[in-house]
Order: sequence, then C-alpha cells, then structure tokens
Amino acid sequence: MNVRPATERATSDLTIVGAGPAGLFAAYYAGFRGLSVTLVDAQSHVGGQISALYPAKNIHDVAGFPNVSGAELVRRLLDQASVYGPQIVLGRQVVDLAHDEPGSDLAVTLDDGTTIPSHAVILATGVGGIRVRTLPVGDEWRGRGVAYLVPDPEAHRDEDVVIVGGGDSALDWALQLQPIARAVTVIHRRRTFRAHAASLSRAADVGIELLTECEVGAVRGDKRVTSVLIRNASGSRREIPADTVVGALGMISAPSPFAAWGIEVQDRHLPVDSTMSTNVSGVFAIGDVSTYRGKIALIATGFGEAATAVNNVAVRISPCEPLAPGHSTDEAVAPLESARRGVVTA
Ligand SMILES: Cc1cc2nc3c(=O)[nH]c(=O)nc-3n(C[C@H](O)[C@H](O)[C@H](O)COP(=O)(O)OP(=O)(O)OC[C@H]3O[C@@H](n4cnc5c(N)ncnc54)[C@H](O)[C@@H]3O)c2cc1C
Repeated sequence: MNVRPATERATSDLTIVGAGPAGLFAAYYAGFRGLSVTLVDAQSHVGGQISALYPAKNIHDVAGFPNVSGAELVRRLLDQASVYGPQIVLGRQVVDLAHDEPGSDLAVTLDDGTTIPSHAVILATGVGGIRVRTLPVGDEWRGRGVAYLVPDPEAHRDEDVVIVGGGDSALDWALQLQPIARAVTVIHRRRTFRAHAASLSRAADVGIELLTECEVGAVRGDKRVTSVLIRNASGSRREIPADTVVGALGMISAPSPFAAWGIEVQDRHLPVDSTMSTNVSGVFAIGDVSTYRGKIALIATGFGEAATAVNNVAVRISPCEPLAPGHSTDEAVAPLESARRGVVTA
C-alpha cells in the first residue's frame, strides 16, 4: 500500500474524486490550467463505469471517435490526464469532506484515514460505488462460469452462453458474443425487453434465442457451470447447456454520502449552477453525479462539464486568472513517457 499516512498532508490545488471519464478529463484540464491535482478512485483501476462494466463495448458518441472501445477510450484519457503528472490514488474511497468558511481550504479523508487538503474539490463520482446486482445462484459459481462482465468476448469462443437481463447491456453483450460463441440465449423475467428495439430485431435476425418471462432457477455443473435451469412464468422448467452465464442485471448504488458532507442532494444527484459549483463553496460536481435542468448523463456531456468546472476552479484559486483558458494548441506539453508518474494503488 503506497498511499501516504494520515499524518502526512499532501496539499494540491485540486482534489478530484472519481477517475471515470469525467474525472480523468478534469485531471488533464486542471494540469493544462497549471493546477496541481490529486485524483482519487475507490476502484483499483481508472475508467469508472467504462472499465468496470463495458471495456470491450464500442462507443460511437464521443466526439472525434466514430468507433472506440471502452478500454481504448480509457487508455487515451489516462494518457491525456498523465501529461501534467497528477497524483493518482487508486483503491481508496473518499469517506469524508471537510469544509469550513467560504473561501477557506477543503480536505477529503480516505478510508485509510489519509487526509488530502486542497483549495477545491471536484466530485466526479458517477453512480457511486459500482456493484453489480448478482444472480440468485450462489457466489461459489462466480469465476467458474458465472460472470457479470464480458471484458474479453474472445474468451467465450465456441461456448454456449446464457445472458440474464433485459436491458441494453444484455443485448449488447449478446450481439457481441453471437459471432464468437456456439449459441447465445438471453433470458429475461419480464414480457418485454428494455433494450433498444434495433438491438432486439438484430438479435432475432442473427438467431439469438430470446426467452421472456423466464428466470434462472439454478446453475448445474461440477468444477464449472455446464447448464442452467430456467423456469417460466407458468412454472415449467427447462435445462439448457451453458458454459458461461452472464448476469446483466444492472448495478446497485451505494448509499450517497453527500448529505452528511453538507452538500445538497436531489434524488441521489448533486444540483450545480452554471459553473458546476454545488451549494458548498469550492466543491464542484461533474459527470453523472451532477444535475441541472436539461442534464443528460453521457460521457460527452461529462467532458464539457469537466472543462467548465476546472476553469472556474482556476479563477477561484487565482482570482486574477482569466476564466477562458487560452488554446491548448499554444501549449508545449511534456512527452507522455516522462509525465506518466504518481499513480499509487492501495
Ligand atoms: C453498459 C453501459 C453502456 C454505456 N454506453 C455509453 C455510451 O455509449 N455513450 C455514453 O456517452 N455513455 C455511455 N454510458 C454511460 C457512461 O458510462 C457514463 O455516463 C459515464 O461513465 C459517467 O462518467 P463519470 O466520470 O461521471 O462517472 P463514472 O464512470 O461512474 O465513474 C465514477 C468513479 O467514481 C468513483 N467513486 C465514486 N464514489 C467514490 C468515492 N467516495 N471515493 C472514491 N471514488 C469514488 C467510482 O469508483 C468510479 O470509478 C454507458 C453506461 C453503461 C452502464
């Protein structure tokens, strides 16, 4: 464990909580504005929801990238953030945020007791701690055929794959695995799917079996899963072969800590003004966790919010600084190799 002990106070201009796409881009942008940055994430890797839930999926709605895999986008965001050498602390949850009078300094506390003081804090905490909803089959099958992510579709070549869920993730994974796997079956407990109609019709076209009003009763196997028992709404049972059962049942959000930190919360989100400031002076919120009239929670909107927040942080810290940053084309940036430093993991 490399994180500094609580007694050592690592001051930076800005602490960013959450290393998802919004937090990573904010880290780059803060460096560009000449701010020193500490970026903290509870997960052991950067990339937020993208790394945790869909690294192999292709993303099509990020400006400048007609088609980029989640993993590749995260890699590029980390490269970009690393240019100015932020301190990145992984595997540590922020459990407290102390703030005194307006204009005075802030400090976040990590789950090991370390405090990190800074002049401003950006909360880029997304949907909070990311925990997948699990299948009712016993945790002992996890890693032995039961999975909740498909980080490497190629690993399922020639397998019988059963995917449980009715949303976009279930259908996206089914479509990704269909050309690789021997057979793909999607099981959904409701009569209708929530996934995009286009994905459903493509799934039907390519021969993915879609079973509605069905639930997983149990998985069977020895060292690994070999089949899954499903039962339908009328109680009849069927056993289908399965090398892998993928649960795509969504996420469970951890309780929101923000109200206890004195931050106004609206339906688990943080209302912000046009500078991305919360009701607490010096504390900003960007990405999925922030809310305002017309808010759309997307990677692309998180990037814009990151730039807005950081430019306003820069002026807060140095009131004589202009709000507009100038053009990045005028900056001479350090080579990536020399700048990629300061990543510490718990
Ligand atoms: C299956 C799926 C497909 C998607 N496809 C697209 C798409 O095609 N296009 C698109 O634009 N969007 C897509 N999205 C949505 C997109 O992933 C989110 O909008 C985006 O990840 C939000 O980024 P963020 O940085 O705000 O938060 P997140 O990605 O949620 O990252 C937040 C980070 O904060 C950390 N964190 C939270 N609380 C703490 C704490 N107290 N201490 C330390 N760390 C903390 C978490 O560990 C996490 O890593 C998709 C989402 C899903 C689930």
